[in-house]
Amino acid sequence: MFIELLDLLRCIRPHDETWLVASFSKVNTRFIEEAKLGCPSCSAQYWIRGGVADLSGEVILPECEHERRAASHRREELATRAGAYLEATEPGATVVLGGLWAYAAQELSEIAALRVIAINAPSEVKESGTVGLVRVGSEIPLAAGSVLGVAVDAWFSTKIIESALRVVRPGGRIVGPAASKAPSELSILAHDDRYWVAQKAPEVVTISRGNR
Ligand SMILES: [Zn+2]
Repeated sequence: MFIELLDLLRCIRPHDETWLVASFSKVNTRFIEEAKLGCPSCSAQYWIRGGVADLSGEVILPECEHERRAASHRREELATRAGAYLEATEPGATVVLGGLWAYAAQELSEIAALRVIAINAPSEVKESGTVGLVRVGSEIPLAAGSVLGVAVDAWFSTKIIESALRVVRPGGRIVGPAASKAPSELSILAHDDRYWVAQKAPEVVTISRGNR
């Protein structure tokens, strides 16, 4: 994991948000290959091994690499779709691409100048200065309201959608599998037989009436 992307990670346990303290064992030109990540709040420990941060919380993840590969499309097409669905038009913003969407990680990060956190990415997906690889269970280990959009496929726990709702900022987009129902807080913008595209409500600005 590129060192600058490490700053985005947060402990997955339910307490006030906190970044993680890293002890590096192996670093190669600012890419952290092996490290221990400790939570200063609850003392949870996580690991980076082979460049991949594991914040799954020891959840056993389903073996679905073959299915993901079979369901994916050409990477350029996936990147175009992910960019359009997530309205990824803000250079420097962060998006989360989960499962087969992660095939588009490098292309999308280059086309749109984004940082991409690729969660449970297929093994062919490689990390870079703008693409970080993270293993997750049902929690996305990022700060609340910190990402422009999240796209996940059908091989995640359905709880991942709640976590996506937390990490997406107001007005941000979530792409979820048709098999998981979109939470009622989201407005559905589009759907087909495989995915829905939804938006989190934009922040409501209360205009002061000036009479209090
Ligand atoms: Zn913690």
